[in-house]
Amino acid sequence: MSLDHRLPAELEELRRTVEAFAHDVVAPKIGEYYERHAFPYEIVQEMGRMGLFGLPFPEEYGGMGGDYLALGIALEELARVDSSVAITLEAGVSLGAMPVYHFGTEEQKREWLPKLCGGEVLGAFGLTEPDGGSDAGATRTTAVRDGGDWVINGSKCFITNSGTDITGLVTVTAVTGRKDDGSPLISSIIVPSGTPGFTVGAPYSKVGWNASDTRELSFSDVRVPAANLLGEEGRGYAQFLRILDEGRIAIAALATGLAQGCVDESVRYAKERKAFGRPIGSNQAIQFKLADMEMRAHTSRLSWRHAASRLVHGEPFKKEAALAKLYSSEIAVDNAREATQIHGGYGFMNEYPVARMWRDAKILEIGEGTSEVQRMLIARELGV
Ligand SMILES: Cc1cc2nc3c(=O)[nH]c(=O)nc-3n(C[C@H](O)[C@H](O)[C@H](O)COP(=O)(O)OP(=O)(O)OC[C@H]3O[C@@H](n4cnc5c(N)ncnc54)[C@H](O)[C@@H]3O)c2cc1C
Repeated sequence: MSLDHRLPAELEELRRTVEAFAHDVVAPKIGEYYERHAFPYEIVQEMGRMGLFGLPFPEEYGGMGGDYLALGIALEELARVDSSVAITLEAGVSLGAMPVYHFGTEEQKREWLPKLCGGEVLGAFGLTEPDGGSDAGATRTTAVRDGGDWVINGSKCFITNSGTDITGLVTVTAVTGRKDDGSPLISSIIVPSGTPGFTVGAPYSKVGWNASDTRELSFSDVRVPAANLLGEEGRGYAQFLRILDEGRIAIAALATGLAQGCVDESVRYAKERKAFGRPIGSNQAIQFKLADMEMRAHTSRLSWRHAASRLVHGEPFKKEAALAKLYSSEIAVDNAREATQIHGGYGFMNEYPVARMWRDAKILEIGEGTSEVQRMLIARELGV
C-alpha cells in the first residue's frame, strides 16, 4: 500500500482544461463584470457547455459521472483567477442541484437534474433568514398543508444564484409542524422561480463576489404542489447538515484557489516591480512572505483533498470538512492581505486581480458556516 499524491489522469486533464478556461476566458473579462456588479451569463453558459455544473452527478441525469474531488479541482482552478464564477458554480452544484440529487424522488431528479447539470438552469438553497444563519434550526419560514399544496410564508436572506435570469428553483427550509416536545419539524421544499407570491429582491450591494448573484427572498402565501417536498417531512434539518458538510469541502477548494491565485499574482509582481533599483522579490522580507503564502496554499490543498477523498470513499468526513473549510478560509484571508501588501498601492486598485481577491476572501470565513461554527463542529467531533 502506498499513499499516492498524484491526481488520476482524468482529474489532471480536468484541472488543465479548467486552468486554461480560467486563464483564457475568465481572466480577460471578469474584471469588467465585477466593476459593473453584473452576472457573467456568457461565462456561466460556457461553463455549462463544458459540463462543470454536472461534474459530480451520474451521466443518467446529464452529469459527467465524477465526484466531489472533480468538483473541488474545478473550483480551485476557477478561484485561482476569480471567485465570483467559482461561487456561482459551487452554489449551483453543492446547494442548488445536490439536495435534489440526494433527497429528491426519481421524478424530481428527472425533472431538474438534466437542466441543472447543463447549466441552462441554476438552482439555489434558501436556508439563512434575516434573524439568523448560524442557528439554522431557528427557521421562521412556515409551510402549511392546504389540500394538495404547501402554502409558504416567510423570508430568506443572502441567497446565492436566487435571482438570475436562468434561476429555475430555490429549495427552501420551512417549519411544517411541531414535534411532541414542541421543537420545530423542518422540511425542505422546492419552489420554482416565478411562483406567484415568491418575490426576489434586488441584488445586494456587496464588498466582494460582485459578479455573483445574492438576493433576499420573500414568500407570501406561495403555493406549490405537495409533491415539491424534498424527501420526508421533518428531515430538512438533517438534510441541510449533510449538504453543508459536503459544501464545506467545495468552499475549502475554492478558498485554496484564491490563496494560490494570490501566490501566482504576487510572484509575478515581485519579479517585475523594482524599488531601490532592484526587483522587490530580491528582498528576503518579500521572499519570506511568498514562501509562507505558498506553504499555506499547499497545506490547504492537502486538507480539502483529504476531506474530499474521505467523502468519495464513503468514510466519515464531517470533521475533516470543517478543518479544511476553517483552515483554507483563514489562510485565504491571510494570503489576500499579503498579496495586496506586496503590490503596494497598485494592490488597492481594482484593476489588479489581488484587489478583487482581497475583497472576495473575507466572506469565505462567513459563508456555509462561520469560522466559529467550524470550531464548534471540530470541538464536538473531539468529544468536548
Ligand atoms: C455573499 C453571501 C452568500 C450567501 N449565500 C447563501 C446561500 O446561498 N444560502 C444560504 O442559506 N445562506 C447563504 N449565506 C448566508 C451565510 O451562510 C450566513 O451569513 C452565515 O451562515 C452566518 O449567518 P449570519 O449572517 O446570520 O450570522 P450570525 O449567525 O448572526 O452570526 C454572527 C456572528 O456570531 C457568531 N456566532 C453565532 N453563534 C455563535 C456561537 N454559538 N458561538 C460563537 N459565535 C457565534 C458567528 O460566528 C458570527 O461571527 C450567504 C451569505 C453571504 C454574505
